This record gives sequence, C-alpha cells and structure tokens, in this order.
Amino acid sequence: MKALVYGGPGLKSWTDAPDPVILNPTDAIVQVDTTTICGTDLHILKGDVPAVQVGRILGHEGVGTITEVGASVTNFAVGDRVIISCIKSCGHCTNCAVSLYSHCLGDEGQSGIGWIFGHLIDGTQAEYVRVPYADNSLHKLPEGVPDAEAVMLSDILPTGFEIGVQYGQVKPGDVVAVIGAGPVGLSAIATAGLYGAATVIAIDLDENRLQQAREFGGTETVLSGAADWKQQVLALTDGAGVDVAIEAVGIPITFSMATEIVRPGGHVANVGVHGKPVELHLEELWIQNINVSMGLVNTNTTPMLLKLVAQKKIPAEKLATHHFTFNQMLDAYETFGRAAETKALKVVVTRS
Ligand code: NAD
Ligand code: ZN
Repeated sequence: MKALVYGGPGLKSWTDAPDPVILNPTDAIVQVDTTTICGTDLHILKGDVPAVQVGRILGHEGVGTITEVGASVTNFAVGDRVIISCIKSCGHCTNCAVSLYSHCLGDEGQSGIGWIFGHLIDGTQAEYVRVPYADNSLHKLPEGVPDAEAVMLSDILPTGFEIGVQYGQVKPGDVVAVIGAGPVGLSAIATAGLYGAATVIAIDLDENRLQQAREFGGTETVLSGAADWKQQVLALTDGAGVDVAIEAVGIPITFSMATEIVRPGGHVANVGVHGKPVELHLEELWIQNINVSMGLVNTNTTPMLLKLVAQKKIPAEKLATHHFTFNQMLDAYETFGRAAETKALKVVVTRS
C-alpha cells in the first residue's frame, strides 16, 4: 500500500509501506477512505515529538471501511463504514471504565496512553490501517454523514468540546473567550452553545480566522495583535472578565492571555499542546479563585457529537476547506502547512 511515512525531522514521503495485518484478536483492518492532517503532524515533522520513530506512518484521523476483523471483535463486521477515533480505548481498564480513554492502559504502544496512531503505532494517512481494540475505538458511520464531516469527529470536534467546553465548565449565560480560532478553537466555538454560552468571543491574530469564527457561532471577534485587545475583551463582559477562557494555540503567551481575561472564580481551559514550559502565576491567580484545566482528548463524547453532526446541529462541513486525493498527499501537507496564506482549516484527503 501507499502511506505517508515519517523520515525524521523535516522529512516525509508518500511511499510504499507493508499492508497492515491483524496482530491481536481485538484488531480490525480498515481501508482508509478519507483522512486529514493535524497541527500535531506538523509538530512531529519538526521533530517536536521524539517518541515518533523514523519509518512511522503518520495520521490519527480517518474514516474508512472495515476489510478484516480479529476473532474477538463483535461490534463490527467486514464492510462496515467507520470513524476511526484518534484515541484507542480497550474499554475495560480502570481508566476506560471512567471514560478516561486518553489514558487507556490496554498495552498497545506500551505507554498507558490513548493517542498511539501516527505516534507509537502506524497511523491513518495510509491506504489501510490496523485499529487496536476495534470494538471501542471505532464508531459506525450513519448513512447521510459525508466522510468530510465525519473525519472531524476523529479528533478536533471532541477536543474542542471536551478539553475546551466541558473542562472549562461552560454553563448557561456564560461569556466564553476562545484564544486561537484554528480547527480546534473553532470546534470549541461551535460547541460552546451546547452548554448555553451567551457570548462567544473569538481571539486570533489572523483576520481570516476571525471571519471563520463567526460562521461557527462566534458572536464577537477580537484581533489579538491590537494593543487594546484585552480592553476590547473586558468591554464585552461586565468588566470583570470572561467566565471561561479557552486556550487553543499552545504557546506561552496565549496561556497568559487566558489568565489575564478570566474573571474571579472563572475557568481557564488549556487545550493547546505546549512544546515549551509555561509560566503559571499562582501568586496572582490563587486569590482570584481561578480554575485551570488541561488534558488530552478522551473522545468519549464522539457518539453524542456524531448525532449532532448528523442532525446538522454542528457545522462540521465548514471545517473542510480544501480537498485532495491520496496521491496528492504532499500537496495537502503543503497547503495545510501554509494555512495563513491558503486559508486552510482542515484539508480532506480521499482515496479517489
Ligand atoms: P492551528 O495552528 O490551526 O490554530 C491555532 C490558531 O491560533 C491560528 O488560527 C493562529 O492564527 C492562532 N494564534 C497563533 N498565535 C496567536 C496569538 N498570539 N494570539 C491569538 N491567536 C493566535 O491549531 P489547531 O489545529 O486549531 O490546534 C490548536 C491547538 O490544540 C494546538 O496546540 C494543538 O496541538 C492542540 N490540540 C490539542 C489536543 C488535546 O487533546 N488537548 C488535541 C488536538 C490538538
Ligand atoms: Zn483502556
């Protein structure tokens, strides 16, 4: 088969790779029909994720068709169309039992971590992928949900919702600020309304991303390059600050920004993946009674989000801005890598 293979920092190729085979009775083999690229893949290619070995097939998002199931897979059969969750979950370890799939202890990848595709085992930017613990790591794709929408459920929609909106404890009437209106921030913006957010402020350096934010339910936008960005945000509250500040960039400055605009008793929900240490000013925050949360997506809300996507209650289709076929995988990377110029949100890559 063909696959996107990591060749070390700065190196990748769309090349021949061995077809995956069933290794454990809980595995399934899925023919990948649609995949996409994540900012995390770009981080890996920069060499920021040393656990990824040379020769690894990248990708942790995908929609496909099951071609083979292991002997103990009971929920799925050959021919089923499925969404591949970016997190594998065995479904019965102590962490899976409390829906903390991000820390599934099932021994794939030997890490006690849920994110293994395109990280510790071969991923979804390939014609075929082996899915461990298929019964709990795949979701049946209902009729009528196009692949380009379904693939947003592998990672970004649950990430924005779980680690942004749910961990941030958004409640009815809240003023929610989302710093970073990339695919993940937009997913938080698109789902903040599920818990009744009244005002959703998108904050970004990029005008285009702010315009996009309005399409996803952002009610206000603030250009964070502006000298008075903070005053603009506070003016949209009662002056005391936002109830929930969601950080969806992953750099020190945006985490600080979140702590600067949150009201006493409010929540800072960090979603961004940080590559560098971040200062946490406990000496200032303690007396503000600020709650800070963070985490790796669990994808335990994917079935619920899938229902909302199917009902057109979440505009997943708007995340798919650019379309490619598998043999254009490198062009897809190029377009995604220059998102500020190409205005790409998610690039959708399909089999044909
Ligand atoms: P992205 O790079 O596409 O979007 C980031 C956005 O932040 C861009 O629109 C950019 O213009 C904006 N930005 C950059 N600097 C800024 C600043 N100083 N002020 C305001 N905005 C600024 O990324 P994405 O794909 O949307 O992902 C966002 C983050 O979420 C990344 O760090 C990613 O690794 C992380 N992530 C976390 C999880 C998780 O489980 N926690 C899962 C997936 C992704
Ligand atoms: Zn588990």
